[in-house]
Amino acid sequence: MASTPHQNPTDQSDLTALKGRIPLLGLTGGIGSGKTAVSDLLGQLGAGVIDTDLIAHQITAPGGTAIPFIREQFGAEFLDPSGALDRGKMRSLVFEQPEARRALELITHPLIRQETIRQGLELSKAGKPYLVFVIPLLVESGNWHGLLNHIAVVDCPEKTQIKRVMERNKLTLEEVEKILKAQASRDERLSQADSILHNAGGFAELNSQIQDLHQKMMGFKTDQSTSS
Ligand code: ATP
Repeated sequence: MASTPHQNPTDQSDLTALKGRIPLLGLTGGIGSGKTAVSDLLGQLGAGVIDTDLIAHQITAPGGTAIPFIREQFGAEFLDPSGALDRGKMRSLVFEQPEARRALELITHPLIRQETIRQGLELSKAGKPYLVFVIPLLVESGNWHGLLNHIAVVDCPEKTQIKRVMERNKLTLEEVEKILKAQASRDERLSQADSILHNAGGFAELNSQIQDLHQKMMGFKTDQSTSS
């Protein structure tokens, strides 16, 4: 049987330490909803931002921590000539085979989580007032809930998502619809939101909501900060 990354035995205590030390915001939303627009501004306002999508890319880049496990599980044909994950090939496989998606997630999720915690501890030590974890599949994965103090969902109508992603990624309508179908529904996501950022309008409208969310997180007290 192929191996998967070991759960780091310090993970759980690190999670607890992080949660007690600094307020943690989970930011999610469907593809093209505006998560990056929101996290960029929160970062400019002073938050520590950790992008789990970026981490997912880093661990599957040449020499990334997930690469040996992917080679063992799926074979070298799922790596490109540079030694990175062949994303196109893997995307096709996991769209067709749910068990392949699960096998890939067993490799990537623990590694993403470990790196997220490592960066979180670093940013916390650097004096950030709160952390933003950008987690596209927060609702789908169910892995993060015990960790977060607050969940914010960036929301817009599906047709707005489709238009933005077709323009940004030069994808066809069918390609974007296929991605949307593989993600949680708008209602599922909204049902888990502590805050909703409505992003059907322009950037000015979004920015004022981001300012409000920032103020909310700045006023958030962790168990540790209220007891000390
Ligand atoms: P992904 O899930 O693909 O990472 P995302 O949720 O991070 O996407 P963004 O990259 O922030 O979404 O936004 C998607 C596209 O829509 C970008 O090109 C961005 O500039 C544009 N966009 C986001 N919000 C708005 C807005 N309020 N008005 C106009 N364009 C917007």
